[in-house]
Amino acid sequence: MVKEIRKNNRQLYQCEECGFFYSDRELAEKCQAWCKEHKSCNLDITKFAVVDK
Ligand SMILES: [Zn+2]
Repeated sequence: MVKEIRKNNRQLYQCEECGFFYSDRELAEKCQAWCKEHKSCNLDITKFAVVDK
């Protein structure tokens, strides 16, 4: 299950395996499925990650 997080009025979804945030639930689920299976990140997925600090 991806984690749903509300931040600055935006709904974000977090991959629990690698900790990346996504604005799209589908992407977060894809990332998590990949991370679980491969124990590494897929750059084609993580390039869509939301980075805000
Ligand atoms: Zn991930």
